[in-house]
Amino acid sequence: MHRDVFRFLLMILTLAVGRAAGAQTLRLYAVDVGQGSATLIVGPTGTALLVDGGPAGSGWNAGANAPGPVAALFAQLGITQIDAMLLTHYHADHYEGLTELLNHNYIKSGGIVYDRGNIPAPENGFTAGVNAYITAAGSKRTQIHVGDAIDLGGGAAVRCIVRAGAIWNGPTVNTAPSQQLENSNSIGILISYNNLQIWIGGDLTGGGTSDGGQTTVDVETPAASAIGDVDIYISDHHGSPTSSAPGFY
Ligand SMILES: [Zn+2]
Repeated sequence: MHRDVFRFLLMILTLAVGRAAGAQTLRLYAVDVGQGSATLIVGPTGTALLVDGGPAGSGWNAGANAPGPVAALFAQLGITQIDAMLLTHYHADHYEGLTELLNHNYIKSGGIVYDRGNIPAPENGFTAGVNAYITAAGSKRTQIHVGDAIDLGGGAAVRCIVRAGAIWNGPTVNTAPSQQLENSNSIGILISYNNLQIWIGGDLTGGGTSDGGQTTVDVETPAASAIGDVDIYISDHHGSPTSSAPGFY
């Protein structure tokens, strides 16, 4: 759980980066979903990957029976259905919006929903919320492993660098002692396009202590060499004191 985290960006941050021949761009949108995380990446040929979906209401606002901020962004961009989703870890401020988007048909029929699978199990077990996500993802749900790549088209790609403490071409960190186990087990990905590198690590921990006194395991620092220098860093764990370890820079 992460009651202590900071509110994420209060605006939709649009970055059109990695300009290549033919004026193709990779676009990244950090959506304002309040306390939570949702990042849309649109590759140079239009392949759209949503990394986390924010808390309830981010995908679809049930009360108003209207699109939430993530679906509203899709509409603004002229996207009716995306190609893929990736859930970094099983916390509600990351999966609830995905569940809503899945249930409102915002992913293509052949789309893929990546997560770490059922092992290791969610820290708080298979709650109603987690099970609703799993049901919504259905047969699209695909377990991602360290080293797996996702093609974003036009030379852009995603690589899974960290998953449940396992680091690509590196050690496996024992996350069990973490008092924020679910966060420590986050999937972390590196997005590459030409010489541009973007890091998204969910709520990955760096050995810091939460405002509530929970200690964490440092997965960030051992992962740093596998990640290398990046151009854009989506702050791990929303800028919480558990994360962004000094050794991660
Ligand atoms: Zn979070």
